[in-house]
Amino acid sequence: MRTVTGPTDNVVVVGAGLAGLSAAMRLAGAGRSVTVIEREPIPGGRAGRLNVQGADGTYRFDTGPTVLTMPDLIADAFDCLGEEMSDWLTLEPIDPLYRSFFPDGSVMDVHSDVEQMADEIDRVIGPDEAAGYKRYVDFVSQLYRYEMKDFIDRNIDSPFDLITPDLARLVAIGGFRRLSPKVRQFLKDPRTERIYSFQAMYAGVSPQDALAIYAVIAYMDSVAGVFFPKGGMHAVPAAMAAAAEKHGVTFRYSTEVERVEVTGSRATAVITSDGERIPADTVVLNPDLPVAHRDLLGREPWSVRRLNYSPSCFLLLAGSSAHYSKIAHHNIHFGRSWAGVFDELIDRQQLMSDPSILVTNPSHSDPDLAPPGKEVYYVLFPTPNLDADIDWKSMGSRYRDEVVTTLEARGYVGFGDAIEVEDITTPLDWEARGMERGAPFASAHSFFQTGPFRPSNMWGENVVFTGSGTQPGVGVPMVLISGRLAAERITGKDPSYRSRAVRW
Ligand SMILES: Cc1cc2nc3c(=O)[nH]c(=O)nc-3n(C[C@H](O)[C@H](O)[C@H](O)COP(=O)(O)OP(=O)(O)OC[C@H]3O[C@@H](n4cnc5c(N)ncnc54)[C@H](O)[C@@H]3O)c2cc1C
Repeated sequence: MRTVTGPTDNVVVVGAGLAGLSAAMRLAGAGRSVTVIEREPIPGGRAGRLNVQGADGTYRFDTGPTVLTMPDLIADAFDCLGEEMSDWLTLEPIDPLYRSFFPDGSVMDVHSDVEQMADEIDRVIGPDEAAGYKRYVDFVSQLYRYEMKDFIDRNIDSPFDLITPDLARLVAIGGFRRLSPKVRQFLKDPRTERIYSFQAMYAGVSPQDALAIYAVIAYMDSVAGVFFPKGGMHAVPAAMAAAAEKHGVTFRYSTEVERVEVTGSRATAVITSDGERIPADTVVLNPDLPVAHRDLLGREPWSVRRLNYSPSCFLLLAGSSAHYSKIAHHNIHFGRSWAGVFDELIDRQQLMSDPSILVTNPSHSDPDLAPPGKEVYYVLFPTPNLDADIDWKSMGSRYRDEVVTTLEARGYVGFGDAIEVEDITTPLDWEARGMERGAPFASAHSFFQTGPFRPSNMWGENVVFTGSGTQPGVGVPMVLISGRLAAERITGKDPSYRSRAVRW
């Protein structure tokens, strides 16, 4: 494994996103002096927080991830500091994980408990489909075992590093066939097929084009379970930052890094937008990788310029007086179109004509997120990224109205009138927040942008990237791992040495 060269006593981490925090906690645990420089006044990055005052109190919105999976990875970061996650964060499992609504009017709850889920599939579809589901769970569980240790939770310097017995096992079980036909080997009903393959959207590839190895994302939520922190998702980075601070990490909030000072291929300091020079033995960069290359290092290699990006999303956060008794915490409303959704978003770069959408109701699990008697809604519509010819300046408010109309047509009666406060985020806003092409799910996880083909987490002698733009990829679990991998490039050893909480 390549590691940084030279001294590593003083590390500057740019960005307090989940990846930067994961790296900082591990480096502090390994005895490094760590300074985190964050442009925003709070930690979390995409896992941010928006407080909006309503007539009867404050609505507290999570502005990014809502589906929290694999909490052991968070616990592992705390463990590196000798801390117990449960002393800092209260996590509750969510059940059902999702409630899925289909255009034929059927509704199916998704459970992580295999028997409970098989019963649900039996109830809605029938016993053969339930049996197919059980075989599918065996398949994704195998995928997970073979992939995690060798291909995801590991620094990979060359494609040859992938030649392991697990690679042969993955080939043997069909991991390199296409996802859609592979899922259809087990699941014959279009409803279950959608539930267990929509996750490819997060990876920026359609299930028709994705490799079956991406079904591992379905394992992470639909089999391993979904959790919700008391206080909302932002409680996760807030707790991580507080624990890091207790263990000596210095946080400089509301401080923007303008560039990394580089001599030859060695970083010597970071320069803030106020002109302050902060010396560093080693620099960890958590901003979106292409932006960090271009704006902070002043050079963007061809391997980064050539990248294709995942779809983006339009987010409506609404504080509301409306309650909907038929929904759960997370709700997926599938449209009639399926392959067409991916075709529009990815190939034709158009808005969905028959949307499949996520509606999260966090106050369902934690009423304190809304004023008494009120609700918080988080509505996510996937959209193309900024490669598409859509003028979001003029389109933003029109699309907001379309979103509300779609919600009302899908059963959220009176949604528009019940909104007390709201906030929208368009792909243009994601770009303004530092995400290349307005794509908050980073570069797509196509085969040649995954594993050793994804941009490396090392540059020069002592710059390490962390976050969704580098290996292993997008999503909360992956960026937490990415922080671990960054720390390993600096310390030269698995920073979870104390007692590895996560064992694959
Ligand atoms: C709407 C949305 C929904 C999502 N849903 C889910 C989900 O349900 N489940 C899931 O697992 N994942 C989800 N994701 C993906 C997940 O949120 C991200 O992959 C992850 O949070 C990215 O973390 P990061 O540390 O890589 O980057 P970021 O969170 O973007 O952190 C980068 C940090 O660097 C800071 N920064 C940038 N430039 C500078 C600079 N020049 N100087 C100082 N600081 C700087 C930024 O302010 C930021 O704090 C979602 C993302 C979005 C946007």
